[in-house]
Amino acid sequence: MKCANCNEPTTLACSGCQGSPVLEGDADIAYYCNATCQRANWKDHKPVCQLLKDRTKLYRVLAIAQRLWYIYRELTWAQLDIHSVEKSGEEFILRGTIDRDARWPVDYKVFPSHLLPLKEDKEAVLSYNGCVDGALWIVEVVEGWLKDIVSETQQVRHWTTNDLRTMSFQPASAIHILDTLSVVHDIIKITLRSGETFAIDLAGAQYGYHDPIMEWERYKKLRILEDLSSTVPPPVAYGVAQLLQPNLQNKYLLASMRKYSVGVGYGDTLGIMNYHILEWLLDEHLTFENLLKLPEERYEKKRDDLIDFVEWTFHGVVKKPYFTVNGTEACHVKWESGTKVLIMHGSAECRVVRFGEEIVILTTGDSGIENF
Ligand SMILES: [Zn+2]
Ligand SMILES: [Zn+2]
Repeated sequence: MKCANCNEPTTLACSGCQGSPVLEGDADIAYYCNATCQRANWKDHKPVCQLLKDRTKLYRVLAIAQRLWYIYRELTWAQLDIHSVEKSGEEFILRGTIDRDARWPVDYKVFPSHLLPLKEDKEAVLSYNGCVDGALWIVEVVEGWLKDIVSETQQVRHWTTNDLRTMSFQPASAIHILDTLSVVHDIIKITLRSGETFAIDLAGAQYGYHDPIMEWERYKKLRILEDLSSTVPPPVAYGVAQLLQPNLQNKYLLASMRKYSVGVGYGDTLGIMNYHILEWLLDEHLTFENLLKLPEERYEKKRDDLIDFVEWTFHGVVKKPYFTVNGTEACHVKWESGTKVLIMHGSAECRVVRFGEEIVILTTGDSGIENF
């Protein structure tokens, strides 16, 4: 590499844009011999550096969102009871039954992961029929985790082309749950403040595309057969992910926001996941912003820790009778002269989260989370 200031050979990358995702025909990451050269070149490099930093943030957030979305799909797989998966090349046939009245979260089913030992196959089936859900999730994530760098969000409905994989459900009498070739696909198109535009698709694996993000022009050329976007109303966010700052105040706000979004399955889940992310950040003395800015190696380790933690806690939440009570009040908390006494009814369980003097209780009642 050559120094962007004096053209001498060097191997030191600008710490601002180092490690950012490189796209085809791209603006370069800058290299310098030393801090003096970096300072001398800063005026020229600054806009590119900022663009690359925004891009890094976008890719990091999307990688986290993709993994959390799979966890959510796996643990709260609602309507399809899949008994077997037949795979011939890249053609998947899922066999099973459908419970049309199943509502998340009370009737949730855990996804049959044992039928799909390969990670890619599992992701493919997890994303089956999930594009609307994935798009709604992304709108929330854009509103919350990415709001400082995104200038425009648009939902794009289209017929796909160049599918690498097809998927169908049997029996076909499942009316509106059809094979992937006969349903339209929804994704999110976002434009960053830097002007870069990307296609975001959490549910692309059902078609054989596992990356949640692609440059917009490339996606358009490669994947869109016919754009039907004019039929889609603009995306609305419930604001569940907006409060990702590590303080108790926001934790309570998130908890109450979760109440409003009960019934909107994804919002509810994203609310819970944000709550657990906050829990982890508090323990780590980190902000979400600072996590995203860590140098690559440390970032990857922390990110994996975070995702493990969220998976573990979310697993605990959905495995317990927490969601299965169907609106029945199952837990009371009584205060007795300064001591908190937790009274449980029947086999219901409560999860108590303590922060110094403050206690948050997750109950099995339909209001989900109560603050005391
Ligand atoms: Zn130099
Ligand atoms: Zn830079």
